[in-house]
Amino acid sequence: MNDYIVRATAADGHIRAFAITSRDTVEEARQDHGTSPVITAALGRLLSGAAMMGAMMKGEKDLLTVQVQCSGPAQGLTVTADANGHVKGFPRVPVVDLPLNEQGKLDVGGALGLGVLSVIKDMGLKEPYVGQIALQTGEIAEDLTYYFATSEQVPSAVGLGVLVNPDGSVRQAGGFIIQLMPFTPDEVVDALEKKITEIASVTEMLEAGKTPERILEEILDGFGLEINDTMEAGFCCDCSKERVSRAIATLSRKDLNDIINDGEGIEVKCQFCNKAYHFDIDELKEMRK
Ligand SMILES: [Zn+2]
Repeated sequence: MNDYIVRATAADGHIRAFAITSRDTVEEARQDHGTSPVITAALGRLLSGAAMMGAMMKGEKDLLTVQVQCSGPAQGLTVTADANGHVKGFPRVPVVDLPLNEQGKLDVGGALGLGVLSVIKDMGLKEPYVGQIALQTGEIAEDLTYYFATSEQVPSAVGLGVLVNPDGSVRQAGGFIIQLMPFTPDEVVDALEKKITEIASVTEMLEAGKTPERILEEILDGFGLEINDTMEAGFCCDCSKERVSRAIATLSRKDLNDIINDGEGIEVKCQFCNKAYHFDIDELKEMRK
């Protein structure tokens, strides 16, 4: 596995920072779901962002879900991350074809259009934490920045990038999240804001061969950057036949009878990784009981 997340701090702990390289993760998502380039970019950015947000959680069993529901042709995206670098996700519509935007980039904002981004954190409490914002640009990084500012009251800079090869495979993917802790001195805030406007885009940095550590150095050079740890990241689905069978259990008795009477069994696919599970007639009859 080549993908990993770096956790760091700077400015005597006033700044915390995360960066990820996620090419293999996004490529796996692309292959599982057969996504077109603009959806590869949209899903890839969300997977990369969610993996870092997962790494912010404290508990081993904490789960984070980021969901986009939107009116553009993509319709929506769902991504789940744990605290250990594992992410999985799926698009509502895997194939959307749009012309490049004015900057000559994949038009992720156009694919998403207007909509809502929800962050659901299940930290083992009675009720999960839910934060919700209206999509700002639909480009994902700006939307997550807005989410952090309004729902979590944490000023943040988020950069995410996915570069797709001419054959549709993923060439580069990665990103960073820089956050300001409370009571950060104004001069640190001002200097960081200035720096953020000067840096190259994430895909440019990745194309230049920069690792997550080097990306953070690029941004936080001069702020006393301290790399705290790194952890492997990857697309990881924990589906099983038993888990998928719960979808069949939600069918009405009539529908289940119809399937059994057809005599061919059914195939049920995991939403997150598209793996197909086959259920034969005997298994369906057993479930009918
Ligand atoms: Zn799965």
